[in-house]
Amino acid sequence: MTNHVSRAASHVQEERLLALFLELTKINGPSTKEGPVAEYLKKALPALGFTLEFDEAHTQFGGEVGNLIAWREGTDSSIPPLFFSTHMDTVLPTEQLKPVIKDGVIYSDGTTILGADDRAALAAYLEAVRAIVESGVPHGPIEFILTVNEQPGLIGAAHLDYSKPRSKTGYIFDSSGDVGQIILKGPYSSRIWMEVEGNAAHIALNAEEGNSAFLIAAKGLLGMKLGVVDDGTLANMGIIQGGTLTSIIPGSVTVAGEVRSFSQDKLERQLKHMEEAMREAAEESGGSVQVRIEKKYSGFDIPPEHILVQTAEAAAGLINVRPYLTETLGGADTNVLNENGLTCITLGLGFQNIHSFREYISIENLVNTGRLTAALIEQWYTNHQKA
Ligand SMILES: [Zn+2]
Repeated sequence: MTNHVSRAASHVQEERLLALFLELTKINGPSTKEGPVAEYLKKALPALGFTLEFDEAHTQFGGEVGNLIAWREGTDSSIPPLFFSTHMDTVLPTEQLKPVIKDGVIYSDGTTILGADDRAALAAYLEAVRAIVESGVPHGPIEFILTVNEQPGLIGAAHLDYSKPRSKTGYIFDSSGDVGQIILKGPYSSRIWMEVEGNAAHIALNAEEGNSAFLIAAKGLLGMKLGVVDDGTLANMGIIQGGTLTSIIPGSVTVAGEVRSFSQDKLERQLKHMEEAMREAAEESGGSVQVRIEKKYSGFDIPPEHILVQTAEAAAGLINVRPYLTETLGGADTNVLNENGLTCITLGLGFQNIHSFREYISIENLVNTGRLTAALIEQWYTNHQKA
């Protein structure tokens, strides 16, 4: 055992980080309307030594601003650059936010979200770079990949201009586990859309010609294994759309859902099963179904011996936090970035009840996110010195 601690992390200042977090949460930036966040970063990042570039992703979905890629030289340019990524958008507006701090925990007043998802990461990243600079520790180049329009389904990351980032490896703090959580594995996911056709008719005029698409769909849904399919596969049907008038036997209905699985094979098998269940129901009832599969994202699976994981475990030790390796069936930008050649893992920062007015984060987790970010940059350098 050594008493080795992170010199950089010891320069992370709780009060400064808390003030920055509260400042950032009040900047309104719901999905596709991240302009004010970008404006803030255009001032804050150059002051920390970053050069900025935006891509044109927003033109694909009518957003205000594209993804932001920011680069900062290290003290040693022979070290491979390390990126930190998060999203600039929040799931709902935060402009009316009135933060409440009680017993070391930050909440909203219950009338808005807090926006800890993921302004906590953004604040921690900025404070960590400040700490790195103040501590004078040697480090490699640092890059920020800050996406837009993440909340509705990782859309900014999907349209990111992947010729812009210069790093190949990095971290994304965007999970509810306490700081120390290291997520190595994420799911493959696809949506399934089913257009179920029966035959429309009026109950009082030509009911005998009617064939209810609702009843066909109901039968199909009852024939599907949904929910927890196995310990690495989830399936859900979440949308039913159809019908015109209470007097009309519905001739068509759309049902849609999604499957997530750590295994692409199992994902495809489950989608096939759902399609077959609906097809069988339609054939038995003299109806038909058209099925469309839409890929959401690919899975990732980073081995524990990967330098990203080794660095994260060692860095957690440097700030006296216990690292723990997990996997998730949740989707994140991590899925999309990995698929596009940017190897990364998700880390926990301890926000809770996200996407709700009961969202909160403890000051301890916020500060540890800043400290761990600083320690990661420091440890990344150390690991590459040894190599
Ligand atoms: Zn998030």
